[in-house]
Amino acid sequence: MNEQRAYLNALREENERFAASHGRQRLAYTRTYGCQQNENDTERIRGMLEASGFGFTDDERNADLVIYNTCAVRENAEQRVLGRLGLLKPIKAERPGMIIGVCGCMVQQEHITEKIKRVHNHVDLVFGTHALYRMPKLLYEAMRSQKTVTDIENSDGEIAEDIPTKRESKYQAWVSVMFGCNNFCSYCVVPYVRGRERSRLPEDITAEIKRLAADGCTEISLLGQNVNSYGKDLDTEVDFADLLRMVNGIDGVKRIRFMTSHPKDLSDRLIDAMAECDKFCRQLHLPFQAGNDRVLKQMNRGYTKAEYLDKIRRVKERIPDIFLSTDVIVGFPTETNEEFEDTLDVLRQVRFDHIFSFIYSRREGTPAAKLDFVLSDSEIHRNFNRLLEVQNAISKSKNEEYVGRIEEVLVEGVSPRDDTVLSGRCASSKIVNFKGDKSLIGKYVRVKITQAMTWSLNGEQAE
Ligand code: SAH
Ligand code: SF4
Repeated sequence: MNEQRAYLNALREENERFAASHGRQRLAYTRTYGCQQNENDTERIRGMLEASGFGFTDDERNADLVIYNTCAVRENAEQRVLGRLGLLKPIKAERPGMIIGVCGCMVQQEHITEKIKRVHNHVDLVFGTHALYRMPKLLYEAMRSQKTVTDIENSDGEIAEDIPTKRESKYQAWVSVMFGCNNFCSYCVVPYVRGRERSRLPEDITAEIKRLAADGCTEISLLGQNVNSYGKDLDTEVDFADLLRMVNGIDGVKRIRFMTSHPKDLSDRLIDAMAECDKFCRQLHLPFQAGNDRVLKQMNRGYTKAEYLDKIRRVKERIPDIFLSTDVIVGFPTETNEEFEDTLDVLRQVRFDHIFSFIYSRREGTPAAKLDFVLSDSEIHRNFNRLLEVQNAISKSKNEEYVGRIEEVLVEGVSPRDDTVLSGRCASSKIVNFKGDKSLIGKYVRVKITQAMTWSLNGEQAE
């Protein structure tokens, strides 16, 4: 980071010269695709940009610098980025000096970076997930070069601490505890684009959270592709259960969440810590992906349907009112209609509060990409719609259990449709909308739940 700091300063001087001669600040536009890890990475990108003297704009057409932080998990996220890059070409033609950067998981794949250079030669800067902290140097070079500056080197195993961060919210923060994934599920590109698991040191994580708490942040979400393997690569004995207890002890923190956990590594030690930590938000995201044992094996998930259901049973036993969510893939190439019934069966048995469902997307370089499909597109879509139908009814009925309860809601902002309506989350993470004054944003408010919708709850301020 020391070398990068020198580049931050050089960029800042250059941006100051620009501001003096043009009578305005250079503006950056960022756009994030994909998961919370990417959101968190964009916060770091914005932190570095702010430290190097950029202002920000919400309109690409006013931007001097555009950065897309991309996702590679499914093809449609990639198509969207490529489409937008095409749209930027005429905008750049009218804005000499505009810099276009593409970073993140998608460009960590060599074939995509080659394609961008071939088809979108108006892109100035391409850097992968491992090069994030080197952005100041790369940007400095891109501002001087006629060619596309590219850095998609693989990780050297180190974690860059102390990257400046500009957070979206003052009250809630994503805190990465580890990077990468070792699981190699057969359909998934993440291990290839994010590299092997690397845990941050517990003292670095707690120091960051203490700083956040001192700044008024009360809700912390611990992030990792598979938080249950936290610490396995460190020389210390600390595991994720210990880390959760450490964070629970930090003054000023009121709520702790985490994601994602892998079912195969969800230990009783962690379930105990979840049950015993008073600030833990009684919420668990535990992706099961598919219900059929043959499919799970071919997905390389490392558990059976019965083992998954048993873990859920243990969690519910210790924490009866826990909010459960999951990820499901429909249309894994060899999954038959009959095997898909097992996925529906898991939904009915567990009764998740919320699910994230995806149609399988073929990812180049993964083992599943070589498999032939047994179902047609229309059969897969029919199964997907059945899944939504089954789950929507469950989500609604789980929401109905909240009607009449008083919930403590951390107010996040106003509703996008009506600015007299506030929107926030209760401890279990359900979205709650209620009428109230904007001054309540960032505060905890007691709300009486009056109505259950499929995706959210409505209520009124209690007392
Ligand atoms: N590490 C997390 C998830 C990371 S990716 C975990 O294992 O739970 C987020 C979700 O995207 C996955 O849980 C999976 O449901 C989905 N996903 C991953 N690869 C996919 C693919 N090739 N096609 C469709 N969905 C996919
Ligand atoms: Fe992908 Fe599996 Fe790793 Fe999750 S655990 S990121 S699905 S390989």
